[in-house]
Amino acid sequence: MDYRHIPAIFLADAPGLDFLNSVATPVDEEVDWISDGEGLLGWLEQAELVPRAALAAMRSQATPAELDAVAAQARALREWFRGFVQKRKGRPLAARDLRELAPLNQFFERDEQYGEIVVDATNGVPVFGLRANRRWKSPESLLMPIVEALARLVCDEDFTHVKACEGPRCTLMFADHTRGHARRWCSMAICGNRAKVAAHRKRLKERER
Ligand SMILES: [Zn+2]
Repeated sequence: MDYRHIPAIFLADAPGLDFLNSVATPVDEEVDWISDGEGLLGWLEQAELVPRAALAAMRSQATPAELDAVAAQARALREWFRGFVQKRKGRPLAARDLRELAPLNQFFERDEQYGEIVVDATNGVPVFGLRANRRWKSPESLLMPIVEALARLVCDEDFTHVKACEGPRCTLMFADHTRGHARRWCSMAICGNRAKVAAHRKRLKERER
């Protein structure tokens, strides 16, 4: 199904998992929001991972073939990382898991980040801050904020609470930040209600018998 008419899904409570959810089956058909270069640019914009100006510049400087190629790289990265998460969700990461993350560190070696001191004086009192910028030189640089989101998931999230939605045909994942860690569904709208309706039907059927 064409991703262009459907907004991407951001319900994971962790950008790295939102990236894994960039392919999903919200209704009946699978939608891959990064199935080509234009899709990747659109997803990065919706995820607010790349400044709009950088996306516009990339759109005018890179060829569609180059952007399609980087989208293919992004999909490969996504499915590799999905394997990493699926194998380890539900328990804390172990030190030995670092070995498997070498591909992310290889990306970081090519990253072109630089810091910049900025000041915000809108409230009358100047507030100084250190902002991280990035040189968006090649189409491949579009992968860097994604790599960063995946690395943050590893470094900042407790994998004990990384979960897959319990919906029988749902592939969405999320970080359960609820108190008591009782979250079971990607969202009530997508799977929670579906489960409620199924349970209700089952009860009705049992009553009929
Ligand atoms: Zn679900």
